[in-house]
Order: sequence, then C-alpha cells, then structure tokens
Amino acid sequence: MADLNSLTSSAYRHALEVIASVEPRIADATRQELADQRASLKLIASENYASPAVLMTMGTWFSDKYAEGTVGHRFYAGCQNVDTVEALAAEHARELFGAEYAYVQPHSGIDANLVAFWSILAHRIESPALAEHGVRNVNDLTEADWEKLRRELGNQRLLGMSLDAGGHLTHGFRPNISGKMFHQQQYGTDPETGLLDYDALAAKAREFKPLVLVAGYSAYPRRVNFAKMREIADEVGATLMVDMAHFAGLVAGKVFTGDEDPVPHAHVVTTTTHKSLRGPRGGMVLATEEFAPSVDRGCPMVLGGPLSHVMAAKAVALAEARQPAFQTYAQQIADNAKSLAEGFLRREANLVTGGTDNHLVLLDVTSFGLTGRQAESALLDAGVVTNRNSVPADPNGAWYTSGIRLGTPALTTRGFGAAEFDRVSELIVEVLSNTTPGTTKAGGPSKASYRLADGVADRVRSASAELLEKNPLYPGLELA
Ligand code: PLP
Repeated sequence: MADLNSLTSSAYRHALEVIASVEPRIADATRQELADQRASLKLIASENYASPAVLMTMGTWFSDKYAEGTVGHRFYAGCQNVDTVEALAAEHARELFGAEYAYVQPHSGIDANLVAFWSILAHRIESPALAEHGVRNVNDLTEADWEKLRRELGNQRLLGMSLDAGGHLTHGFRPNISGKMFHQQQYGTDPETGLLDYDALAAKAREFKPLVLVAGYSAYPRRVNFAKMREIADEVGATLMVDMAHFAGLVAGKVFTGDEDPVPHAHVVTTTTHKSLRGPRGGMVLATEEFAPSVDRGCPMVLGGPLSHVMAAKAVALAEARQPAFQTYAQQIADNAKSLAEGFLRREANLVTGGTDNHLVLLDVTSFGLTGRQAESALLDAGVVTNRNSVPADPNGAWYTSGIRLGTPALTTRGFGAAEFDRVSELIVEVLSNTTPGTTKAGGPSKASYRLADGVADRVRSASAELLEKNPLYPGLELA
C-alpha cells in the first residue's frame, strides 16, 4: 500500500491549491492554523486532533445532499448513499457503546441535547396525551386540546448540574434554552470536597421530582456513578439523561466500565463526537428501545437536513474507535491526566477535588493571586492554550473565573505520555508563579490585566517546542 503520509501530504497540498485558486486568504489561514496547532501545547479539554481520514471524509459532495428523514424514509429523492452512510455510522455507534439505538444526525452537542429533551417530552408527555385523545399526531388534536398539551409540555421539570460545579449550559442554566423551556433546579458539589454528593442530590430530586435528571459535565474532574444516578431517577420517576460529550472517548475506550459506563444505566445518552472521541464536530444520541421512536423524530422536532458529510466522518471516527488501539489511547488519556494532576500537587498548586480520575484537571489559580482570565492570557503568551473556567462558588464569576481547565485528549493524540505531562505541569506553574495581576486605569486591582516576568514566555515556549517536536502533530504531513 502507498505510504499514507505521502498520500495525505499530496492530497492536502492539492486541496489547498484548489482553494487558493478561489480565495487564497482561506488557503493561507488553513496553512497557518496547522502551523499554530503544531506549535502550541493544546490543553483545551474539549478539543482533540481528528485523523486525516476523518477530516478528509468531511470534504466531499455528501455536503451537497439534502436528506431530511431517516434511513429508508426520506423526504428527498436520491438518498441511497446517505442511507448507507447513516446506517453505518449508527451501526458503529451501537456496537462501540453497546447501545440499543443510535441517532447520528445531530449537528452538535447542543443539538443532541435538544433532540434528547424533546424526545423525552414527546415520549413522556405528548404520546400519552395523544393516546388519551385517540389521535396519532398533534395536528389531529382540537385547538383546545393542543393548547392544553402545549402548556403541559412547557411546564416540566429538569434537574441538572450547575455550571460552576462543572455542568454544561444545556443542563438547565437559566440563560440557555434548557433553563427556559423547563422549570429547572441545579445540583452542585460538596462545598468541602468538591465531589458529587449523591445523598444531597437524591434529597433534592425527591423534593423537586423532575421529569428529567441530567448527569454529565464539562468541567468536573471525577468519574460519576451512573448506577446511583439511575437509582435516584427511578425513585422519583425521572428519565435519566447522561451527557457524555466530554468523556465519550473514555467510555468507548473501556476506561469507564460498570457503574461508570452511562449506556447501560441511562434512558438517553447524548454526546459530541469531537472531544475525547476524536471524531468530526458533531453530536449523537444513544437510547434504549423505549426512547428510540421519539429520538428518531429529531427531524422534524428540532433538526432539519442532516450533515451527511459529517455523518460519514462520524462513521470513520467510530470505526477508528472500535480498533484496539483506541482503548490504549483512552487509558493513556486518563493516565496522563493523573500525571498532570500529580505534577501540580507536587508543585503545591490547588486542584478542585484534589485531583482527577478522568481526562481533565481543574486548577484553582487563586493561590497564584490570579483570576482565570489572567492565567489563561499569560499561559497563551507562553504558547500554552487553555481555557479559563469557573470553580465551585467562584468568587470571580463566570467571566473572569478562578480556574483553568486542562485536558489531556489532544496532546495524548500527539503521543505525550506521563513524563511529558509532568513537564507540562512544571511549565504551567513556572508561567503562573511568574505572573502578577495588573491594575485598572483607576489604580485598583484588575481582574484582566497581568504582567508576565521578562523571559518566561520565551523560556517556556522553547521548552514546549522540544516536547512538541518529539511528538509531532500529523507526522509526515508536509504542506510545502
Ligand atoms: N455538552 C457538554 C457536556 C459539553 O461540554 C458541550 C460543549 O462543550 C456540549 C454539550 C455542546 O457541544 P457543542 O459545542 O458541539 O454544541
């Protein structure tokens, strides 16, 4: 077989020439993006590097095809190849996760969550109402019955993890649609330990009696016991929805098994495909047979035409995740996060929950006298790409924050191991301990401006360059 690296190099070189013939500035920005990604320590917990096969699959004529509907049941003609793609992606997803049903059309994680919410509402509220009135479709209801159903659909309860405890916007955060379409309450973590308190959560669920209990997170550095979550949901008659957007790769790679695997415990599981799962940007919903018919109505409930080119790339990424090598990768993600956390603790930095057992670490930067915003900016000056993040009960609010969230999936894809992540913790501490907060124009303490001591950014950049060169991104891919 031809050398894949040289095939990839030549494919991208030609593709960029074709793009440049129409809009050279886009070709230039694309080249520059690769150069920038190659030259920085990417520690954003929600990002990764998809394989060339996944990336290339997105650049085809499947992008041009409309295919509203489901496999074999489309509202457009000529969907036979999209059917092949969607059926394959769903099959890979079911096999990989051991799910009864997989819906691969959502364009993103937020779309997947919207599909899940409306599927639960359709299954739990709308279908019984239709059965009661002896009709199959909401269009067949009388206006009065429709008004009553509409009020009922808009009057349900959702209990999800709060943003500052690590939950996502879509888990009932008021400014998000999830916090507006449901009566919402939020659960947090134990103020002492930073850990989920299942007894407190159960008590809240008993009192609030939600229709939907959402588990899952964007910034909680620990594993969740989904068997316990299901017990709580069952006790109060809630539907358990798990959003595994962040840790789907650890589920796929069998790092999270038993009680830590959401699929056997939840009624509905949603995910993105582009974070630890290392696929194209997109979303997916897994469900039990019971919820499958309502999930299948994602279009027309909340979606229009699926992104067929992205569904094709999901199939390729899921096929990759079914290879044994993906399990080694997933285990390395978790081992690396441990090493990063231990590196910080040895250097006397503070971590929310005191450590990690998943793919991310939440560093509380207040011990360096900084806000998350200052820390994020100083690290970026030194070529370390992170994102600021709230810590529980954050004194600096959601904009400036007091934390930095760091994830290992991307650099693990590049080949970084435990020793490299220990070095990364050392470099981060070097930047933060050489950063001082600035002052506002009025002379008061600033939450945004900062000063990084002379020479530190260059020193850290050259130390990172050594690590990055030893673990190249897309080795063998040459654009010039
Ligand atoms: N759910 C969780 C837990 C997330 O962390 C995210 C994104 O960060 C999403 C959903 C939304 O994903 P997307 O950005 O693809 O809409």
